[in-house]
Amino acid sequence: VLVDDEEGGVLFYSSLSSSSGYGHASIEKQRQRLPVYKYRTSILYLVENHATTVIVGETGSGKTTQIPQYLKEAGWAEGGRMIACTQPRRLAVQSVASRVSEEMGVKLGEEVGYTIRFEDITNADVTRIKFLTDGVLLREMMDDPLLSKYSVIMVDEAHERSLSTDILLGLLKKIQRRRPELRLVISSATIEAKSMASFFNNSRKRQEEELGPSKEPAILSVEGRGFNVQTFYAEEPVPDYIRAAVSTVSSIHDEEPVGDILVFLTGQDDIEAAIQMLTEDTEVTRKPGLFVLPLYSGLPRADQDLVFSPTPRGKRKVIISTNIAETSLTLEGVVYVVDCGFSKQRFYNPMTDIENLVVAPISKASARQRAGRAGRVRPGKCYRLYTEEYFLNEMSAHGIPEMQRSNLVSCVIQLKALGIDNILGFDWPASPSPEALIRALEVLYSLGVIDDDAKLTSPAGFQVAEIPLDPMISKMILASSDYGCSEEVITIAAVLSIQSIWFSVRGSQKELDEAKLRFAAAEGDHVTFLNVNKGFIESGKSSNWCHKNHVNYQAMKKVQEIRQQLRRIAQRLGIALKSCEGDTRAVRKAITAGFFANACRLEAFSHNGLYKTIRSSQEVYIHPSSVLFRVNPKWVIFHSIVSTDRQYMRNVISIDPSWLTEAAPHFYQHQQLKSRAQ
Ligand code: ADP
Ligand code: MG
Repeated sequence: VLVDDEEGGVLFYSSLSSSSGYGHASIEKQRQRLPVYKYRTSILYLVENHATTVIVGETGSGKTTQIPQYLKEAGWAEGGRMIACTQPRRLAVQSVASRVSEEMGVKLGEEVGYTIRFEDITNADVTRIKFLTDGVLLREMMDDPLLSKYSVIMVDEAHERSLSTDILLGLLKKIQRRRPELRLVISSATIEAKSMASFFNNSRKRQEEELGPSKEPAILSVEGRGFNVQTFYAEEPVPDYIRAAVSTVSSIHDEEPVGDILVFLTGQDDIEAAIQMLTEDTEVTRKPGLFVLPLYSGLPRADQDLVFSPTPRGKRKVIISTNIAETSLTLEGVVYVVDCGFSKQRFYNPMTDIENLVVAPISKASARQRAGRAGRVRPGKCYRLYTEEYFLNEMSAHGIPEMQRSNLVSCVIQLKALGIDNILGFDWPASPSPEALIRALEVLYSLGVIDDDAKLTSPAGFQVAEIPLDPMISKMILASSDYGCSEEVITIAAVLSIQSIWFSVRGSQKELDEAKLRFAAAEGDHVTFLNVNKGFIESGKSSNWCHKNHVNYQAMKKVQEIRQQLRRIAQRLGIALKSCEGDTRAVRKAITAGFFANACRLEAFSHNGLYKTIRSSQEVYIHPSSVLFRVNPKWVIFHSIVSTDRQYMRNVISIDPSWLTEAAPHFYQHQQLKSRAQ
C-alpha cells in the first residue's frame, strides 16, 4: 500500500502500517530486536545522572527511533514537557517522525510530531516527542532562549558536524549552565564521541555542595549486530565514476545473489545521469528485475515513498543516492554498496568571499559509514570506486566541520539575535576562521543589519533575523517594501528556497530548455520565476499545465505554501504587501539591496562570457541553466556559485551598476578605493 501523499500528514509507506494487519505486539517485538534495546536501562540511567550523554552506535541500531520513546516511557515528557530530537536533514526528520508515530500507534502531528522550515506538524498541547532540524531548534531559541519546554534534547547525527549542529551544540552548552535540569543526548555514528564529550565537560566547575546530575558527560557505545562487509577496491583509478558505478551495478546484478544495491553518487545531476545510463544500457535493460530509484533531498514525495517501500518479490532495487543515505536514513534490504568516493561539499573562501558547492573526496570515516550500509540484513559487499592505495594513503581521516568551510553570515546573525555579542570569543565545538567571521560581520554591516558596535540594528537587523531565510534574502524582502514589489519578491524568495521548479526528465534536456524559453525574461532568472509562477496561477494551479511546461508541480505547490508563510511573516513585520505590476526595475533593485555583494561585471573584450566579481575579481561564468547563458549582460548579480571545471553563477539577474552604490554605499566605496589602490 502506498499511502496517499497528496496533502495528508502520513508520509511514508511502511510494512507496519495498521492496515497491513500486523498488530501492536509485532511492533513491540521488532523494537526489542534492535541492538539499542539491550541498553535501554543503561541509557535511562545515564540520562538521569548525567547532564550530557553521548551515544555511539551504528546506523540502524535504533538510536533515533527508540531513544526518544524510551525517554518518554521513563516519564521525561510528563508535566507538559517535551522531548526534542534534532536531525541535520529535513528528509530524515520527516521519515523518523512518521516511523515513530507508527511504532507508537499514534497519528503523526499529535503525540509525535515534526517541524522543518515552513512545515510544522505538531500540536502544542499534545505533542510530546518532536523531531526537528537543528536549524529549526536554533530558531525556536529566538522566542524561548533557554528552550524551556524541553526536558531532554537529543542532538542526532552530531558527527556530521553540520553548521547548524555545531552552533546548536555551542548554545546548548551555555543553556546547560542556566538549566541544570536539562538533559542532552548527543548521538553520533563515529569516533567523534570523545571530542563531543570533552566539549561538554563542565565538571571542572563542579562544587562539592552542588546537586543535580553529574556534569561530566557519559559515553555509551551501542554494539551493533552488523554483519561482515567485504570490501573491494578499483584496481586502477577510475576516470569516470558515474560510468564505473553503472557497470558495477550491472555486474552485481549479473553475478551476485538477491539483495538491494545502494549507490553513492554526489548530486541530483550525477544521479540522473546514472539512471539514464542504467535504463538506456541495453545490456542492463535486457536483464529483468532491476528497479532503479533516485534518492536526494528535494525528491518528490511519491518517489521517496518508493525508496522506502519493500522491494517487490523477484526484483532487485538499486537506490542511487547522495550522502543523505550515508547515516540518517534506514534502507532495509541493502546488501551491496557502491561508493564513488566523492560527495558535494560546501567550501568557502573568506579571501574571495565565495562559497562553492564542490564535488570533493570524502573522508575515511564517511567511506566506512557507506560500507556499513551493506551489512544490515546479512553479510554484504562494498565496492569502492577508488584504489586501496588511495584509501589508505590519501583519504583524510575525517571531514572538515562545515563551520570551517562555510560562509558565516547566517550563523553570525543568529548568534547576534540571541544576544551573543562576543562572536569571536564564542565557545565553538570547532572554531571558525577569524577571517570568515570578519567577512560575515562586514557583509552584515553593509546590509545595515548590524551597527558600528556590531549590534543588531533596530528595526532592520531584528526584522532580518526574524525571517527564516538567509540574511541576504531577508534583506531583499525588507527592501521590497520600499520598492513596492513585496508580492513579487516574496515569490522569488520562495522559489529560491526550494531546489528547483523545473522538472527534468531524463533525456529531455532539449524539451526542458525549450520550455524555459517560453518563460525566459531578458532581465534574468528571478524574473523568469515570476513568469512561471504567473502561468501556474493563471492555469488554476493545474498539474497538467506543469506537465506540459516541464515545471515541477510538487515544487510549485510548495512555492505557494512558502509564499503564504512569508506573506504572514512580512505582515507581522509591517511590510506592506504590494505588487509592482510588472515593473521589473523595482524587483531588481530590491534583489540588489540584498545581493549587492554578488555583483559581477563582464570582462571587456571577453568572447567567452568571462565575468569578474567586483568584490574580489574572481573569474566566474553564467551557468548553462540560466536564461542569461550566452546573453551575457554587462552587469549581473548572482544568487549562488557552483564549481565544476569553472565557477558558475546560478540564478543570475542583470542590473544597472548605479544601483550598487545606491544599495550599499559603504561597501562599494570601500571596494573602489581598494581597486584604485591596486
Ligand atoms: P539509528 O538511528 O541507530 O540509525 P533508527 O532508529 O533510525 O536507527 O532505525 C532503527 C530500525 O528501525 C531500523 O534498523 C529499521 O529496522 C527500523 N526503521 C527505521 N525507520 C524505518 C522506516 N522508515 N521503515 C521501516 N523500518 C524502519
Ligand atoms: Mg539515526
